[in-house]
Amino acid sequence: MTAAVEHNGFGRNSRSMLRRLRDVMAEARAPQDRLDSITSIIAADMAAEVCSIYVRRSDNLLELCATEGLNKDAVHRTLMHFGEGLVGDIAARAQSIALSDAQSHPKFAYRPETGEEIYQSLAGVPVMRADRVLGVLVVQNRSRRQYSDEEIETLETFAMVLAELLANGVFGDQAPKHDTPLRLAGQTVAPGIGIGVAYFHQQSTAIRRVVADNPAVEKERLETAMREVRDRIDTLLAAPDLAEVGEHRDVLETFRMIAHDRGWLTRMNDAIDNGLTAEAAVQRARADMRARLGSVQNPYLRERLADFDDLANRLLSRLAGEEENGDAAAIAEDQPYVVVARSMGPAELLEYDRHNLTGLVLEEGSATAHVAIVARALDIPVLGNIPGLLSEVNPGDRLIVDADNNQVLLRPTEDVQEYFHAGLKARAETKARYQALRDLPARTLDGVDVTLLLNVGLMFDLQQLDATGAAGIGLYRTEIPFMVRRDIPDVEQQTDVYRRVLEAANGRPVTFRTLDAGGDKHIQAFDHDPGDNPALGWRSLRISVDHPSLLRNQLRAIFRAAAGAPVDLMFPMVSTVAEFDAARAILDRELERAVRHGDPLPRNLRLGSMLEVPSLAWQLPEILKRVDFLSVGSNDLQQFFFAADRGDQRVTHRYDPVSVPFLRLLKQIADACNEMDKPLTLCGEMAGSRIGALALIGIGYRRLSMASASIGPVKETVRAINYTDLQTFMSNLLKSREGRLVEHLKAFSRDHQIPA
Ligand code: PEP
Ligand code: MG
Repeated sequence: MTAAVEHNGFGRNSRSMLRRLRDVMAEARAPQDRLDSITSIIAADMAAEVCSIYVRRSDNLLELCATEGLNKDAVHRTLMHFGEGLVGDIAARAQSIALSDAQSHPKFAYRPETGEEIYQSLAGVPVMRADRVLGVLVVQNRSRRQYSDEEIETLETFAMVLAELLANGVFGDQAPKHDTPLRLAGQTVAPGIGIGVAYFHQQSTAIRRVVADNPAVEKERLETAMREVRDRIDTLLAAPDLAEVGEHRDVLETFRMIAHDRGWLTRMNDAIDNGLTAEAAVQRARADMRARLGSVQNPYLRERLADFDDLANRLLSRLAGEEENGDAAAIAEDQPYVVVARSMGPAELLEYDRHNLTGLVLEEGSATAHVAIVARALDIPVLGNIPGLLSEVNPGDRLIVDADNNQVLLRPTEDVQEYFHAGLKARAETKARYQALRDLPARTLDGVDVTLLLNVGLMFDLQQLDATGAAGIGLYRTEIPFMVRRDIPDVEQQTDVYRRVLEAANGRPVTFRTLDAGGDKHIQAFDHDPGDNPALGWRSLRISVDHPSLLRNQLRAIFRAAAGAPVDLMFPMVSTVAEFDAARAILDRELERAVRHGDPLPRNLRLGSMLEVPSLAWQLPEILKRVDFLSVGSNDLQQFFFAADRGDQRVTHRYDPVSVPFLRLLKQIADACNEMDKPLTLCGEMAGSRIGALALIGIGYRRLSMASASIGPVKETVRAINYTDLQTFMSNLLKSREGRLVEHLKAFSRDHQIPA
C-alpha cells in the first residue's frame, strides 16, 4: 500500500484500532511481543510499510526496540544519539515531523543494517510523558507520501498510548539516571539564588485508561473536572499575597479567561466521540497544541501554550482524582525544593507551597514569560532557556539555581553546596550593608554628587524606590503594561497605571518613556510582521509617529495621571531630528486638545530624547536645541554601534561597552550636553555595573539610571571615588589605550580602595 491509499486519519476507524491496542496491552504477553504487535497494528492502520519504535535507554541512547518493515536483525542493534538523524532530532526537539522526501533532509542518517534506503517518506512523533521524551515512534513509506495533519495526530495518539506503557516500566527502566555533578547554562528570568531538591512539575498524573467505553460518561467527567478547575483557579487568584495590583494580576486574569474559553472543550469532546477517555482527550488536545505551536517563536503564542499546558495538567489531576499538584504536597515538610519544568503557566507556580519553594528552572522559559512576572512578584529566583535540563536532572537531585550568574548546578558536591550556603549568607550581609547606605548621598570623596535613579517596568519594581533610596525613576518603560495584556490598554487603563507610578514616586521625579514596542519587546496586541531584522524594523517611535492616536492616547493618560504636576517625558529610538519633530508635533496636538477640553496641563513639561541610535550622535547640536534633556540607552546604542544583537548570547558579550570606542562616543555625547547645559542620564545596563558606572562618572556622566539591585553597589562605589583622580585616569586611558578597559579600571579600583 502506498500514498495512493485513501486514509481516514484519526476518526472513523480509530475506536476499533484503539480497542485492538488495548487488547494487546491487556494480554499477558512478553514485552517484546507486545511491542511487535503494536508496530503491526500501527503500520496497518496508518497504511505504512514501516512502523518502528525507538526507546530511550538509561544511557540516553535511542534503541530500535521493535519494527514492522525494517530488518528484524536491526532490532536492539540500531542505536541513535539524541539529536542524531531524524529520529534523534525528533527526540531532541520533542517535536513531530512529516517528510515526503526524508532522504534528502540534512538530518537523515542512513543505517545500512535497517534496510531503510528504499523508504522515501517518513513521519515520526516523540513518545512523551510529563515533558520527558521516552522514545520515538516512526512510520515510513516507499513512495513520496504527504502525511496529513490528521495522520500525524493519529500517530501522536498512538504515541500517547505507548508512553503510558513505557512509563509503567513494561519495557524496563527507561529513566536515565545521572549521578555526576553538572553545570548547565541558562538565562536569568528572575534574579537570586535558590538551593533545594529537584521536584518535577507535572510528574504525577498517569493516564490509566485511554479507550472509552461510554462517551457520554466521559463527557460528563470532563465537564465536572473543568468546572472544578475553574473554581480552583478562582480560589488561587484570590490569594492575599497576589492581591496587590500589578502586571502579575493582568497575566493571571488572562489565564482565567482562557480557562473559561469553550473552544478547546469542544475539541476534547470531539476526541471523546472518536473513542478516547476524558483524560486521553485532554492529552490529545495538549499534544495538538504542542504540535501546532511547539516551534513558534512568537512569545505571545508560547505563553498560550504554557497556559494550555497548565489547564491540561489541572484537568488530568482532577480526572485522576488527585488534588492539584498532589505530589507537591508530598514533598517532605520543610524541605526546600526547586521546581523543574519545560515551561510553565503563571498560575501553576501558585500551586506550590511558597514557603519552601526556593527556585524554578525552565528548559524553555524566557525573561518575558508570564510565569517570570509572577515569580518576580513573589521573589522567587528563576532560570530559563536551559537546553537539556529535563534529560539531565533526576527527580530528587540537589540543585543550586544561581540565577544571578546564569547557571544551575546539578548534584553539586558538598564543597560547592557549602560555598553557596556561605554565598547566601554573604548576600544577606551585603544586603544589610547596602541598606545602611540607603539614606546617605551618592557623593564622591571630593564632593561630586551623582544622581542614582531607578529603571522601572513592573509595578513590583516600584516598591524598590523606598527600599533603595533611589532619587527617582530615570526610566519608566511604558510598554510593559502593553506586553502583558492581550489588548491595547485604553486611556483609562493607562491613566490608572501611570497614576500608580506617580503615587509610588511620591514627589520624586519620574521620566516616562513613550511606547517602545517591537525589537525585543513583543506587544501581544500588535500582530504586525516583525520583518527579518526586528531590532532594525518598524518599531518604537517609528510605530508611534505612524499611529498618532496610539501616542496621543498615551500622552493623554500621562497628563491625566499627572493632574497638573510636572511631567518628564522622552521619546525612544530617535534616529533623526525630523522624527523627533514629528513626535513633538503629535505631542503639541495633544496639548492643544487638552486646552480645548479644559483638561489640566502639566505644570512643567520637560521633553527629552533617548539617544540609542548612533546616527543621533551626529546630530547632537540639532537635537540638543530641541530637548530639555537627553538619556542614553546604552543597551540599544551598544547593539547598533557594534552591530551585535543584544539578545543573542553568542555575540552580546563579545563587545564590551567599557572599551575605548564606545566610551569615546559616550564622552562626545557628555561633552556636547555639558556645553549646552542639558541634563544627561544614562539608563542602560552599563550604568548598573560598578565598573561601568566608574567609567561613566570618569567621563562626565552625573545621572545614572539602573535596576534596583544595582543602586546599593553603585552607591558604595561612588562614595569611594576621588573624582579628580578618576577623571585624569579615564582621560589618559582613552588617549593611550585601545580595546577593553575593564582590567585597567579594576586595577585603578584596587589601587584606590574602591569596591568594584
Ligand atoms: C536601552 O536601550 O539602553 C534602554 C534603556 O532601553 P531598553 O533596554 O528598554 O531598550
Ligand atoms: Mg532601548
